[in-house]
Amino acid sequence: MKIFHFKKELSEYLKAIKNEDRSVGLVPTMGALHDGHQSLVEKAMSDNDEVVVSIFVNPTQFNNKEDLIKYPRTLDRDVDFLKNISGNKIIIYAPSPEDVYDGNVASKNFNFKGLDSVMEGAFRPGHFDGVGTVVKRLLEIVKPNKAYFGEKDFQQLAIIKKMVEIHNLPSKIIGCDIYRAEDGLAMSSRNERLKPKYREAAPFIYKTLKSAKQKFGTKSANKVSEWVKKQFKSHPLLELEYFTIADDKTLKPVNRKSNKKNYRAFIAVYAGDVRLIDNIALN
Ligand code: AMP
Repeated sequence: MKIFHFKKELSEYLKAIKNEDRSVGLVPTMGALHDGHQSLVEKAMSDNDEVVVSIFVNPTQFNNKEDLIKYPRTLDRDVDFLKNISGNKIIIYAPSPEDVYDGNVASKNFNFKGLDSVMEGAFRPGHFDGVGTVVKRLLEIVKPNKAYFGEKDFQQLAIIKKMVEIHNLPSKIIGCDIYRAEDGLAMSSRNERLKPKYREAAPFIYKTLKSAKQKFGTKSANKVSEWVKKQFKSHPLLELEYFTIADDKTLKPVNRKSNKKNYRAFIAVYAGDVRLIDNIALN
């Protein structure tokens, strides 16, 4: 298992691989790895000769300081986790902020053509500039043939595709299905922070999304949204931050349904002090 903490050494190592015409896949993560990450890594391994997994809690994408401080950091466990998946095949890049940002740990400003003005972008100011900055850096450092991102963060995936298109970056962005626990809760590193009563309550989020999908077959987006809000109002533990039904290409909230478009429902919920997000395709 190769572990690099500095981009210089990583780039040199990858240069030799690319000179042999071997393909490279990149899976960017913030660590505290779980089965959702594993599904991305396995897809990357089946598509590429070599796979780089970056493990980096990116400070510039946290609009909430407390969230950054509390984010789980479990590098030793993550290394074992990747060993178990791959034997010794994976290349790990676990840098410091200084290495990624060359000492200037700050976001660049991006124009994501409005994709960032709703949902996560609206509730987490600056978040997507931080994501764009770090993903662009990682793509420039690793120069992968393909990079893998989860639909769990569907808006992030759309924004990264846009960023790659605008900046003409040569890597192909691959979206991967949401991986769920048996009870339906989308896997997330933040799930580790849920106290037992919140963990028990949290599958309600996906259950509600599935019912919303069913209702969307016959009801307007407004009616479905009202119904979802009502479900959370009467829930004793979970607090809804937003529920939005949006066009899955533009991410613009739907006013009037069109059967030529595809829609997705997006949700953010507080379970105690842990913020959880999820989404579901509606048609
Ligand atoms: P994170 O470490 O949370 O930043 O996630 C790293 C990558 O894994 C992102 O592209 C996420 O969308 C993806 N990911 C996280 N959780 C899941 C999941 N439950 N299913 C699929 N992809 C996921």
